[in-house]
Amino acid sequence: MTVHFPFQNSYSALPDSFFARVAPTPVSAPRLIKLNRPLAVQLGLDPDLLETAEGAEILAGKTVPAGADPIAMAYAGHQFGQFVPQLGDGRAILLGEVIDRDGVRRDIQLKGSGPTPFSRRGDGRAALGPVLREYIVSEAMFALGIPTTRSLAAVITGEPVIRETVLPGAVLTRVAASHIRVGTFQFFAVRRDTDAIRRLADHVITRHYPDLLHAERPYHALLAGVVARQAELIARWLLVGFIHGVMNTDNSSISGETIDYGPCAFMDAYNPSQVFSSIDEMGRYAYANQPRIALWNLTRLAECLLPLFGDEQEKAIAEAQDILGAFSETFSAAYQAGLRKKVGLFTEREGDEALIQDLLDAMAKNQADFTLTFRKLGDAAGDPAANDARAQFMDPAAFDEWAKRWRERIALEPQSATERQAAMHAVNPVFIPRNHRVEAVIQAAVNDDNYAPFEELVKVLAKPYADQPEYPAYADPPLPDQRVLQTFCGT
Ligand code: AMP
Ligand code: MG
Repeated sequence: MTVHFPFQNSYSALPDSFFARVAPTPVSAPRLIKLNRPLAVQLGLDPDLLETAEGAEILAGKTVPAGADPIAMAYAGHQFGQFVPQLGDGRAILLGEVIDRDGVRRDIQLKGSGPTPFSRRGDGRAALGPVLREYIVSEAMFALGIPTTRSLAAVITGEPVIRETVLPGAVLTRVAASHIRVGTFQFFAVRRDTDAIRRLADHVITRHYPDLLHAERPYHALLAGVVARQAELIARWLLVGFIHGVMNTDNSSISGETIDYGPCAFMDAYNPSQVFSSIDEMGRYAYANQPRIALWNLTRLAECLLPLFGDEQEKAIAEAQDILGAFSETFSAAYQAGLRKKVGLFTEREGDEALIQDLLDAMAKNQADFTLTFRKLGDAAGDPAANDARAQFMDPAAFDEWAKRWRERIALEPQSATERQAAMHAVNPVFIPRNHRVEAVIQAAVNDDNYAPFEELVKVLAKPYADQPEYPAYADPPLPDQRVLQTFCGT
């Protein structure tokens, strides 16, 4: 039996200017480290066959499966605010698309599978550490219920990659609703190729926003759709303490998924200005800046779409501004609704927003762990004697003062303590991919070829909202000497 991928490729049928045809570069000794078996099944692939030697060769880019039409996608992008007219897949190759069990078209892409015409000075390769990081964090995001690209497999190539040190090379198989980015539109906009922008927009509408096919003004509606999905996505990030780290326009997905996990991280202690990425010196992509940056990126998308809005430029600009204006409202509504759930409020009352903000302010002041404070608040809702939430605060009296007001507020609602606790536990995870854990897993894999810690972490993170008393340490914040202060890009 050979591995069969039921490819149905639509992106490679677009005009030649959209991509470069390029095959992955064969590697010497591919070895499968991890196959995401449930995802394989979801994609209509046979997990047993993918675990054979032939499967590993495909997932490493050594063998191109039948029906694949390998391409590197073209895109541009603003990197830290600087426009680069040509980026493109420099180390990723799209094998093709399959229709999953829910009827959703999904890209299957190899990341780290060799150079492409877009590689510029890069080697087209990925090191094992960043591949494992992306695997862990993207699958954790999925388990948290947040739109994201996913990881089908990780393989090591048997070849070294040279970074600051020599590291094992690896390939990640990434699965996405699509890999179309704000930067994909920018690639054509800077070339003033309005036909290509229209082709791309039509492709995106058909693929990601089919409800808009018959809209009166489909391109306006498309912009509104992307604005809404991004606003909701960023709210979801903030509600779990996620920091993407490199929100460049080329890392901003049109389908509304989290994409391009580089120096991303979850914060431990709540700190709105938290930055982890070593390259984000100005804090452009700090935790609390993410909504503002998303809107900035969407404004770049709007600029690309203007030629499709009509011939009167001023009118088009006014319309685009109008659509972008909805971002703040959609974001705030999603964020505030999420926060209300996190503190166990079933209804909306005047004063709620201030009550919640006061908690966040106290958390910041007291270096309270973001994840544990909310999780343990759920316990406190269930049992007034539970005091682990309080223990997150350097000055527990700050919590007590707030908790008194919170108890008065929840007492206005009819739900029982048990009901409230269950509702809170359903939105406040116990387990997030804590930085120190991710780093430890990577060290064990890279230094000792030991994947047991990786397997265990992935397993725990698959059920982030379940208590899993057999793994208590995974919920713990880092000890002072375990704290990871900086994360690094995958390059
Ligand atoms: P990223 O920071 O991973 O989003 O990548 C930004 C750009 O650099 C994209 O065009 C990537 O394809 C390219 N790139 C990153 N790493 C490499 C590499 N090792 N080789 C070639 N291109 C790369
Ligand atoms: Mg990128």
